[in-house]
Amino acid sequence: MRLEHLPSEFQKALPILEKIKTAGFEAYFVGGSVRDVLLNRPIHDVDIAASCYPQETKAIFKHTIDIGIEHGTVLVLENGGEYEITTFRTEDVYVDYRRPSSVSFVRSLKEDLKRRDFTVNALALDDSGRIIDLFDGLSDLKQSILRAVGQAEARFHEDALRIMRALRFAASLNFDIEPKTFAAMKAYAPLLEKISIERSFVEFDKLLMSPHWRKGIQAFMAIRAYDYLPDFQDTFDKWQCLLADYTENFSFSSSEQAWAAVLLSQHHKNPKTFFKKWKTSTNFQRAVEAIMIIFEQRLADDVTKQMIYTYGKDWILLAEELRQAQGLSVDFERIERLDTELTIHDKHEIAINGGMLIKDLGFKPGPEMGKVLKAVEEAIVLGTLANEREAIFEFIKEIGHV
Ligand code: ATP
Ligand code: MG
Repeated sequence: MRLEHLPSEFQKALPILEKIKTAGFEAYFVGGSVRDVLLNRPIHDVDIAASCYPQETKAIFKHTIDIGIEHGTVLVLENGGEYEITTFRTEDVYVDYRRPSSVSFVRSLKEDLKRRDFTVNALALDDSGRIIDLFDGLSDLKQSILRAVGQAEARFHEDALRIMRALRFAASLNFDIEPKTFAAMKAYAPLLEKISIERSFVEFDKLLMSPHWRKGIQAFMAIRAYDYLPDFQDTFDKWQCLLADYTENFSFSSSEQAWAAVLLSQHHKNPKTFFKKWKTSTNFQRAVEAIMIIFEQRLADDVTKQMIYTYGKDWILLAEELRQAQGLSVDFERIERLDTELTIHDKHEIAINGGMLIKDLGFKPGPEMGKVLKAVEEAIVLGTLANEREAIFEFIKEIGHV
């Protein structure tokens, strides 16, 4: 098969392929970008695989950066673009189910494609637009089938992360997992315990952010993958609730929102310990927690200025979207209106501070002054007190502290 028209991302990278060829080596576009162009999907990062070894690649191009030389990857900077060029390679014995114990560089494209995870990810594209399809990836692509390259059991046993990848590709591509591939995923799901949690998080997060996340979750449930991931043991029913709670065509608009929905359906009481186990950043954990708290408060109350001030409009809107997707009442306009009515968004915007209370009103630093500042902040947020020095001093006198 030959592509008549190469998309601009590939066109732009053609001179790179040509340079490598002129130097006497082979070079191809490989991986996700080839799959995506055939599916008419937008392309991101164009990956290049080549027969030259890293030192040889560096000799061909003027500007290069070593970004993963031990894996054979060199970053080439050319014509204002950045291109990852990876030497054809095979991966030897996997001792810990996740990382090859060594990588061997080879000169054959076939060897390189053979180590790739799924047939649709094992296609290559040459500079003339010809697709090299050694594992029937094109036929699987046409039928929307995700199939392991080679012996499925061996492939998941080598690297159990591929189980998570299969689930996320099912969700992002809306592909069905081929039965033997699926059976092998199920058989080796227990190996997910051995995978670094950061890598599982990346794949699971991509699954949740996919348009067909429900499909990914259904496959995830069918292989009981949850039993081998932190804090998800024995949660089949909870995932069922997640699927039941949201309307069919809803997709998450941010990772924080997606994980909040997951933890809400799990009735998880302690997001902090959960995300510690999943090793995410503190900022991420706090955002998810905020969306969860807002969602729960909203079950009892309308959105208040105080909520917007405390959590910020963005997280409130994300929680409101979850309500909408659950068929609960929503009021996006009210949120926007209250937000524009807020005179301050942060306590540093208050027209007075502790220093002024000490200097001008004779306060002493301590809990009493903290209480007064809190009362001032609350009144300004509620809109009952103007954010002006004189008005605030008057207010402090009125509440009887001076
Ligand atoms: P995306 O569009 O999300 O980037 P992708 O297919 O490009 O999808 P990457 O994670 O960027 O996925 O990996 C690039 C390519 O490397 C894949 O298409 C696949 O050929 C190969 N690959 C990545 N991870 C694995 C793995 N764990 N086992 C085997 N091959 C892999
Ligand atoms: Mg990619």
